[in-house]
Amino acid sequence: MTQIRPRGAVAPLRRPASLPRRPTVDAVIAALQPEEPLHCLRPQAVTEAARAFAAAFPGDVLYAVKCNAEPAMLRAVAAGGIAHFDCASDAEVRLVRTMFPDAAIHFMHPVKSRAAIRAAWGQCGVRDFVLDTDAELSKILEVTGGGDLGLVVRLALPKGSAAYDLSGKFGATPAEAAALLRAARPHAARLGLSFHVGSQCLDPSAWTRAMALAAEVIAASGVAVEIVDVGGGFPVAYPGSTPPPLADFMEAIRAGAALLPEGVRLWAEPGRALVAGGASVVLQVQQRRGDALYVNDGVYGALSDAGAPGFRFPHRLVRAGGEPVATVTRDFTLFGPTCDSADVMKGPWTLPADVREGDWIEVGQLGAYGTALRTAFNGFDRAHVTEVSDAPMLATPGYAPGAPLRAA
Ligand SMILES: *Cc1c(COP(=O)(O)O)cnc(C)c1O
Repeated sequence: MTQIRPRGAVAPLRRPASLPRRPTVDAVIAALQPEEPLHCLRPQAVTEAARAFAAAFPGDVLYAVKCNAEPAMLRAVAAGGIAHFDCASDAEVRLVRTMFPDAAIHFMHPVKSRAAIRAAWGQCGVRDFVLDTDAELSKILEVTGGGDLGLVVRLALPKGSAAYDLSGKFGATPAEAAALLRAARPHAARLGLSFHVGSQCLDPSAWTRAMALAAEVIAASGVAVEIVDVGGGFPVAYPGSTPPPLADFMEAIRAGAALLPEGVRLWAEPGRALVAGGASVVLQVQQRRGDALYVNDGVYGALSDAGAPGFRFPHRLVRAGGEPVATVTRDFTLFGPTCDSADVMKGPWTLPADVREGDWIEVGQLGAYGTALRTAFNGFDRAHVTEVSDAPMLATPGYAPGAPLRAA
């Protein structure tokens, strides 16, 4: 019987005793010859990225759990000194509370079910909730009954230069946000204003502009605000796209902070920036047709962003037995295993020209929105996960010792 696992779950690899606890990716491939996708976690890279971000950011850092909720990744984030978690669902809240009894959990989804608010407040000790409407404010007050409540108003931003817009669905206009701050003030032990510049935002000045708008909204509200949450969106390196160093983003945030009322505490909610380098996925080529490679994972698996969103990922070929590969390269298109024509990853994927059935392709930078977006569509949900000692396949400036400080 085929076991369909819950969306996103990956099974721990049964590792031969001959392999060390954290072998190299090549050693795992040699030992296991994996015919199902193999997720290779790099917890050390996540811990280093979390530590670097926490050291650089002038405020509290909340990890955006949706980006990668693998327990090993959550532990790695916590090991880097992150004690706050941005959760968006009942399941995320429960997972974090089970793993970290003392962590501060912030419920940052603007539209929550009453049951989720009740459980978070009553059972999981969550005290901070985001909202972007009067209706959600009333809901939160009714369900919690008030008390030591942190209320954060989500402000929508004009569409910017990020790869993913995150204001299309949530967020109040500046006038609405000012009114919501006024309405929430009497009920809030802590009052905040949050925004998200969009995911993979390469422009540090987007934060300064958003914080200037936040300052205007706070001034217009006429009430005191204790927190400004600058959201996530901090970018990582992908092939052909190296972001400015982390320090430039922090400089832009400090410039924005200077526009805010004195004493405002800053929060940030990075997801991608902390975990992208923390996982690669080893695919196997099942068939070659000219420049097309049919592989065992795709857009319904860990490679969602390589499909329609068109992200490119670092990659390399691994051949069984370390046999030589062609030195000449060629650009390939990858097709995933499901029957859907949309299951295509155009890349281009530059690989040795003699790629053949049975070769493996390691794809890096998949710690963010890789595992987290997997589905069981067409029965292709089986994958294994193991921890490895390799460094990320691509370094992002500013996130790890030895990472370049300036874009090339
Ligand atoms: C997705 C999300 C994040 C994390 O965004 P990244 O681009 O991964 O840093 C943070 N906050 C909110 C509200 C989000 O929806």
